[in-house]
This record gives sequence, C-alpha cells and structure tokens, in this order.
Amino acid sequence: MQSLYDFNYEQIQDLAKSYGWKGFRGHQIFQWLYRNRVNSIDEMSNLSKETREILKQDFIVSPLHLVRKQVSHDGTTKYLFALEDGALVESVMMLFDYGKSICVTTQVGCNMGCAFCASGLTKKKRNLTSGEMVAQFLYVQKELDKTQDRLSHIVVMGTGEPFDNYENVMNFLSTVNHDRGLGIGSRHITISTCGIVPRIYDFANEHTQYNLAISLHAPNNELRDQLMPVNHAYPLEELMKALDYYCQENNRRLTFEYILLKGVNDSTNQAHQLAKLLRGYNAYVNLIPYNAVDEKGFKGVTHQEAMVFYDTLMKDGIRCTIRKEHGNDIDAACGQLRIKELKRGQN
Ligand code: SAH
Repeated sequence: MQSLYDFNYEQIQDLAKSYGWKGFRGHQIFQWLYRNRVNSIDEMSNLSKETREILKQDFIVSPLHLVRKQVSHDGTTKYLFALEDGALVESVMMLFDYGKSICVTTQVGCNMGCAFCASGLTKKKRNLTSGEMVAQFLYVQKELDKTQDRLSHIVVMGTGEPFDNYENVMNFLSTVNHDRGLGIGSRHITISTCGIVPRIYDFANEHTQYNLAISLHAPNNELRDQLMPVNHAYPLEELMKALDYYCQENNRRLTFEYILLKGVNDSTNQAHQLAKLLRGYNAYVNLIPYNAVDEKGFKGVTHQEAMVFYDTLMKDGIRCTIRKEHGNDIDAACGQLRIKELKRGQN
C-alpha cells in the first residue's frame, strides 16, 4: 500500500482535494506526519473518524520495519530496515560536533559498479520511493524524540546513486526541507553523485541550496575508467564541464570525494594531477579513509600516508579535509550490513 510519506507538502494538499476535502486537510495531515510524527492515521485526532477511515483504506504511514540495529562505541548507529516488499536497506546516524546526521539509502542495490564499493555487489533491484527515504529519516528522528534530540543534517550517500533516482530523491528532500514540517535547512543537506552528467545539469537548473558532492576517486580518465564504470559514459571532461555550469548557475561550494586506495590513487604525482584538475573551482576535497570490503581486495592508507597526500594538495592550493571515520567497529562501509544479512539468508 502507498505511504503518506510519498507526498510532499503541495502534493498532500492535492491529495486532500482529490477526495473532495479542503486543501487545509492536507496541511493538517502534513503536520500530523512531520510535526507530531504520529505512527498511524488513527492518531490524527483532529480529522473526523470518517476521514481517517477513508485514508486508512488507501494509505499506510511508514513502509519500514526494523530488522537490526548496531551501535558503535562512538555513537554511530546503523539501521537495517525491511521495506514492504522485503527488500533490505541501511541507514546510518552519525554524531558530529555540529549535530546529528543521517546517511540515507536511495536504491535497493546499485548499478554503478564502482570497483571498491560494497553496494554494487548486488545489482539495483529497484528505486526507493520518496516515502521510503522519508521513512528512514523519521524512524531515526522518532528515536531521538525520546530524548528531545534531533537530526540536523542529511547526507544522501547510502546505497544507490541518487541521480539514478532523481525525481524521488528531490521529492524526499522537498518533504524533509519544508518549513511546515521537519525544516531541515537546505545547507544541511548533501547529495553525493558518482557523476551522472545530465542530472548535474538538471540539478544546477533547480537552484536549490542543497550541497553537491562528487565522487571523484581518480585524477585522470585512465584510472577513473578502471575504478568507476560511469566514467566510460561521462568522462572527466564532460563531468567538469557540467560542474562549470553548476558553479555558474549556483554560487555554492562543491565537495569532491576521494577515497585513498593504497598503491592505486594515492601517489604524490596523482595528488599534483588532482590539484591541477580542480584548480580554480570553488571546492574542497574530502579525503576518505577506505572501509575495506572483503570481496574487493583494495587497501586503505595509514593516517600518515593520507597526511602526505593532504599536504601535497594543500601546497598546490587545494583546500582539503580528511574525513573522520565513524563506526568502524560496526560494518561501516556502505552496504556491508545488508550484504551480511543477505548472506545469512542464503545459509
Ligand atoms: N552513488 C553515490 C552515493 C553513494 S556512495 C556516489 O557515488 O557518490 C557515497 C560515497 O561513499 C561515495 O563517495 C563512494 O564512492 C564512497 N564509498 C563507497 N564505498 C566505500 C568504502 N568501502 N569506503 C569508503 N567510502 C566508500
């Protein structure tokens, strides 16, 4: 059954009107879902019993069921959820000094096939609906409600390629961003893409204030072709051209993500090459410690080695940070908890 979370603020008013109700009913439903954060239609007590019965015939509230939860010593919490059709997805809640952030999954499996990533170990089965993404956020927020705490940030960096599920991702973000509901500020939302060029143009044209992060991981086409099959379709020249357009249309700083893989993309030469590629952009590089994936055979670098790469970039005038590791004691790499559960099911 369809979830009420699938509808953003405007759509839920249209939905109300489609039943012959006033748009205001839609506003009330939205408030129940996102301000009061009810778990059922029955709790929407200022709607008449008749209205609630009609809604219950066609809609549910949340399409998620918790399967497993792991809490790390640093507070990072990983959730494994089953969707209505039994498909498994993961979400991660991370603690930062600026607040709490949730990493949201956008697809069941992933078709991008990045050589180092666990998510691509199973092909994409389907896109998540926007309601299934909203539900990940709300599940975690409802847990935090118990201690009057809140999620302040969203990173769209879980399993899946958000720009391969563009409409639903944008719909999800418009719901969580809406100031009559959860009101997560645009600048606290980051979408990460492996570089689906046509969608970067679409995104640039939307003029949202969401942050854009690009998974780069290689400073030249030869290596990027090997690590990220998407580079065959959209090589670096095309990617950078799309990003030029994005920067021209949006006065926003870009993030480039770069996982340091030992002996693969971590040489000083490659750091110089990367600096050359990114010179002139209003951007910074986020150097990511690699979460080893058993099946993939890549190795991460030590902190010292990461610092050498970092220093080279900084000396070349490129701003960068080394991402802090979160929850490395709890199957932290993207998609690992799900893969483990799928294997458990096979045995
Ligand atoms: N498909 C999107 C978003 C999901 S992946 C994208 O490619 O950006 C989110 C980030 O995690 C990407 O930068 C991805 O390359 C990175 N990532 C994937 N596997 C990882 C691993 N094992 N360790 C560290 N980062 C990983």
